[in-house]
Amino acid sequence: MTGTFRIGRIVGIDVSLHWSWAFIFVLVTWTFAEGILDTTFPGWSIAQRSIVGAAIALIFFSSILVHELSHSVVARRFGIPVSSITLFVFGGVSNLGKEPENARQEFWIAIVGPLTSFAMAALFGAGYLILDGIESGVADISANLAFINTAIGVFNLVPGFPLDGGRVLRSVFWARDRNILDATRLASRVGVYVAYTMMAIGFLTFFFVNPVSGIWLFLIGNFLRGVSAASYEQLFVEKTLKGIPAALVAKQDYTPVSRDLSVEDLVEHHFLAGHGHCLPVMAGEELLGLVTLTDVRKVPRDDWATIRAHRVMTPLADLKTVGLNDDLAKVLALLAADSLNQIPVVEGRLLRGVIKRSDVIAYIQMRQAIDAGKSAS
Ligand SMILES: [Zn+2]
Repeated sequence: MTGTFRIGRIVGIDVSLHWSWAFIFVLVTWTFAEGILDTTFPGWSIAQRSIVGAAIALIFFSSILVHELSHSVVARRFGIPVSSITLFVFGGVSNLGKEPENARQEFWIAIVGPLTSFAMAALFGAGYLILDGIESGVADISANLAFINTAIGVFNLVPGFPLDGGRVLRSVFWARDRNILDATRLASRVGVYVAYTMMAIGFLTFFFVNPVSGIWLFLIGNFLRGVSAASYEQLFVEKTLKGIPAALVAKQDYTPVSRDLSVEDLVEHHFLAGHGHCLPVMAGEELLGLVTLTDVRKVPRDDWATIRAHRVMTPLADLKTVGLNDDLAKVLALLAADSLNQIPVVEGRLLRGVIKRSDVIAYIQMRQAIDAGKSAS
């Protein structure tokens, strides 16, 4: 996701923050400093209220983080690797290394998040009950945090894919129909309907109840509509690419280089000549490896004349490759998993073509254009 920065690592999972979270931070701090704390602690200065407001915003942030971590921990128990968690404006996303294998795994990975939020709400609720009468100001803050965690749990249970509630819904469709693609389409369609309903309620709330709550509901609905539609598009891409052989879009427009070419010649006659950033090192039709600009940069300038291409290339054994009959869905998954720009198409050790990321995108766009023409006529 663009616009994110890494803030740390917890139980082996990278935690990143999306810039939109700054907006929530300010909003939560402000809501408490200007509104709630003003009534709870009437004697406090604006500075005191702002500091405590910021502290509450941090606890709010931690609550969402704990919610996301619970998804990750359960996913890992099912053997699904979790590389990172990104926190953004309305919550967080756990980046699972792969989709759950069955409906049961999906159900538990999804439901544990809201359950965790409700458990935290219960803890803060208990804090309120214990402190009420002893330290009523702190008790009120605890009550507010109980409310916030309940709200996180309830919001995530909204049956709009890819929110937790939508995932629970998908797991139910999945268990019923035994088809994850159809289940996703159904769940994301429900998500879009739920989103429009929230936006409509937000619109009415804005005019007839409370403008601020109305804007909130509308924004949340609009966000949900976007992500639901996106997960449908992701499905469309998967469906479009499924069963289409790599051979169809593989191109032979690369310039092969020999294993004994010096790094100097590689730079002078190939990289600078515009033959691309990544060249196949070949012996006849046989692919030996790929050499990139990055490989060349590692070689000290003085050694350019003596070091040969095969010494700096990534050998075939270490490369991700696909066969002529592998489908484009697999190609795209491999490109995405390692952020590759191209992947060689091979038959045994023989190079049959190269697929660039842009070739796959061009194919999807062409299919979209053709399908749009079909529905228009
Ligand atoms: Zn969740």
